[in-house]
Order: sequence, then structure tokens, then C-alpha cells
Amino acid sequence: MECDAGAGAGGGHLSIMGESPLELGGCRLFFLDGGSMQVRVPLARGLSLKLALRPVLVRAPWGTALLDCGPGEYDASSWRRYGVRAPLLPFPRQLERIGVRPEEVDLVFLSHLHFDHAGGLLRGGRLAFPRADHLLQEKEWHRARQRGGYGPLTGTLAGGRLRLLQGATEIVPGLEALPAPGHTEGHQVCRVGGSREEAWFLADLVPAARSLALGPDRFSDRDPDLALEHRRRTVTGMVARGALALFYHDPRQAWARLDWRIEGQAARAFAASREGAGIRRDGAAAGL
Ligand SMILES: [Zn+2]
Repeated sequence: MECDAGAGAGGGHLSIMGESPLELGGCRLFFLDGGSMQVRVPLARGLSLKLALRPVLVRAPWGTALLDCGPGEYDASSWRRYGVRAPLLPFPRQLERIGVRPEEVDLVFLSHLHFDHAGGLLRGGRLAFPRADHLLQEKEWHRARQRGGYGPLTGTLAGGRLRLLQGATEIVPGLEALPAPGHTEGHQVCRVGGSREEAWFLADLVPAARSLALGPDRFSDRDPDLALEHRRRTVTGMVARGALALFYHDPRQAWARLDWRIEGQAARAFAASREGAGIRRDGAAAGL
């Protein structure tokens, strides 16, 4: 998550149920409503932002994957602290609408183990997606185990189908995990490739379109400079490849294509387009 004044403050219930699926060519992405949360803006007393919680379901010839899974039942104190609101339609019902049963999910990709991304993997104290491999960077696993406070999550995962990744990993052809540390030590992002397009699930590396223009996030990221370095590197590569960005926390938009905009001497990345038309290629890619 990211704290930044001016975007999405207050307001009613966020819902992204109306968002159309993205077609990448033989691979479809469905945006799920994981509810919303409220985050206080540092140094601005009384001001808080409403953030989306937006897991993505991937349906591809190789199977079905869930990219992060919302806050779920896990950690009631975090729900209170962050003013979490449940989705309008319970998660299993959303999957049902897409035609997927929880036991049909083959892979659960976990960017990291914070409650707003991973809590939903538990339901009734058990794994919500009982036949899925749960993919996590080994570093994130060890961080969570050392820090404690993740008891039910790590305890249930340890007894289930946990697959620990060491660095960049092609999970299946068309689905790749890439380390992007900084928010947490073991944070990772995911590249999903279709025959026509590729999309990157950026989780808390770039939680919202606005984050593209920001410097180090000293409030949310454990190592803000490292996170910024990875943000720059990832976005530079994405612009070069014409990739789509998927925003987990953006209250306004689920995805965008990225591009550069020249501001003074610097080129800054921005969410250029939802359609791919008219994208400028004038960025010098000198940095963000
Ligand atoms: Zn987050």
C-alpha cells in the first residue's frame, strides 16, 4: 500500500465488479473485488485514503491462477486498524460468476504476506484454495516466520501446498515470478504473458498509477530506496515492452499501459492509456 495525499479520499464502497476482463491472447485476466481499506495519510491529521484491494484471476491454457487474494478472514485487528470493508459480493461468489470453484484454482501467487494481500488464502481456518500451489519467495517466508504475528497464515501454509521460490522463476510458460524487494524483503511481482499482450501484476511495487510519479515511499516501504530502484527498473522494462500494468490498490483504475512523459530534464513514467492507441514514444527513459 502507499500513502499519498489527494487520491481517493473518503467516498463510499469501492467496487470493481464492473471492470471487464483483460484479454491477452489465449489468456484472460479477471479483476476481483477484495474489498477496500482506509489508510491514514502521514503528517496530515484526520486525512485518510480509501484503497482498493484487487486480486486478479488468470485463466489460461495452463490452468487457473489467483494473484494475491485480498484480506479474507485473517487478522481481525488489521481489519479494524485499516478500516477494511468486505467486498460487496463474497469472494467465492465472485469466482462462481466467472465459473471457477475454489478447488479449481491451480496456483496462488503471493506477492508478500501482508494481510491485505494474503489473508484471503484462509477460509474457516483452512486453505481457501485447497488444491493450489501457493507461490512465495523464500525470503518472504523466512521474514514472516521470524517476525511472528503471521501465526495462522504461516502455520496453515506450512501444512499445505507451499512452493518457495528463489529469485526469478518461470512458474509455467507465460507466468513468471520476479523479485521486487523493498516493500518487504521478499516482495515479488508477476508477469503474465499472452500471445498478444503481457501484463504485470505489480502489487505494492507500484500500488496505484499515482505511485509512478512518486519518490521513495518512506511510510509504506520497509526499504524505500531499494523499492524505488526496483520500481524504476521494472517500469523501464515494461515501457520498453509495451506491457500493461495491473494496480492492486488503485481506487480508480485496475490497469493501464505505461509510458514516459518529459518533465523538465527528467522522464517520468505515467499511466498512458487503457487502449494502447496514440502512445507517444518520446521518453528518453532517463529515469522516473
Ligand atoms: Zn498492499
